[in-house]
Amino acid sequence: MMLTKERLNEILERTGVLQHGHFLLSSGKHSNKYMQCAKIFQHPECSVEISKALAEKFESYDIDIVIGPAIGGIILAYEVGRHLEVKAIFAERENGKMLLRRGFEIARGSKVLVVEDVITTGASVKEVIDLVRSKGAEVIGVGSVVDRSGARVLFDIPYKSLIRVEIDIYDPTNCPLCKEGSIPYKPGSRDLNI
Ligand SMILES: [Zn+2]
Repeated sequence: MMLTKERLNEILERTGVLQHGHFLLSSGKHSNKYMQCAKIFQHPECSVEISKALAEKFESYDIDIVIGPAIGGIILAYEVGRHLEVKAIFAERENGKMLLRRGFEIARGSKVLVVEDVITTGASVKEVIDLVRSKGAEVIGVGSVVDRSGARVLFDIPYKSLIRVEIDIYDPTNCPLCKEGSIPYKPGSRDLNI
């Protein structure tokens, strides 16, 4: 079965990944939506379905390895790698620098797909791209479940996502939700899981 946008939205809302309301963010700003993508991966059957849909977007590409930045990209890379029937590894930070640890290797000349759960600025993914290229390997593409980039061009290689999510962020002094009289709350301060 194809993963439709409706089905994906239904999964994101049911698992509490995407919440609608009036939120107080850690930056002090307010927003109309809140996302916690890690919640998808609490549910193996959702992880499999979503990762398969992302993998299918890269089926026509020649890929040897899938890599994701820890932590958001670990399970996604594994599941995408399973569907593409290639090796899956993750990169992680040590002293602030994105590295391969645990004996993971990328052979020179490998064709690599980089995946991440949510891409906003693309900073972590760019670090992984630089890491892959530093090994003499080629980055073939970037994939994410959610694209929060706001349609900015972040990468010099093909980027595909399953869904674009726009979140409106407001200054607390000029928040339309506050003006309507509602009170923002800190995500996680009450359980919105259904
Ligand atoms: Zn507000």
